[in-house]
Amino acid sequence: MLQGMTVFDSHTHLGSAVHSGRVRPVDDVLRDMDREGVDVSLVIPFPVVEDMRGTHDEIGDALRRYPDRLRGTACIPPFIPPQQYRDEAKRCREEYGFVALKLQPQYQAVNPLAARFDYVFESALENEMAMVCHTGSGIPFALPSLFMFPARRFPDLRIILAHCGGGGMLVAEAIVAASFCPNIYLETSTLMPNHVLEVLAHIPASRVMMGTDLSECMHTEIHKLLGLGLQEEDLRAILAGTALSLFGNSPETAGCSTRLPAASLRTGDGAGR
Ligand SMILES: [Zn+2]
Repeated sequence: MLQGMTVFDSHTHLGSAVHSGRVRPVDDVLRDMDREGVDVSLVIPFPVVEDMRGTHDEIGDALRRYPDRLRGTACIPPFIPPQQYRDEAKRCREEYGFVALKLQPQYQAVNPLAARFDYVFESALENEMAMVCHTGSGIPFALPSLFMFPARRFPDLRIILAHCGGGGMLVAEAIVAASFCPNIYLETSTLMPNHVLEVLAHIPASRVMMGTDLSECMHTEIHKLLGLGLQEEDLRAILAGTALSLFGNSPETAGCSTRLPAASLRTGDGAGR
């Protein structure tokens, strides 16, 4: 809790990264959460790991040790046979109760427009998981607008645009994507504070969520939101309410929504405030 408010970090990494050399054991994650008043974190593998399955087991073990503090995400290299992809998603769901899959186009060059990669999004739906998609660095495949295609092909799937376009350069495009697709959610890590206000001018706080990405950013990412003078209801939604509605208390409620009205998907009505 922070200033009487629940805090859910919807994007933080756990494990060891081959590409950057970062190492984040669960004890470090929990130490930082305690220091910053974070109640629950959605933990995600780094995009390039030595042992994908072993990393999922490491996260799964952490979930079993700290079920009230952590939710789990699988990050499966997409260029393996589709059935292997599906099997690993199912294993993470059934063995450990993971609530999301992560797609990282900066290191996993999947074109979201291409139907041949539908198994990635279908795997999330089949297992009642949400789909966290990195946006920003890694364009063209990390362009926020590209995720409008799977969002429309799979209207029951909830897609989170991590970094909301990344650093502010593509924030307007992320706003467009979320405006036209009510099953797209925006996560605020790397945005400047003024960009968060820009997002909230168009997208309801109930589809915006706080993430920190890296432990050294945790304090800044949380406090940039506290300093914006937001209405308390909106601040509570961004700090925890939105993430809890997707990754909630029960893995059974994660990922899939009640089917969204088809009319709003066709026209964009119902999006925005
Ligand atoms: Zn990340």
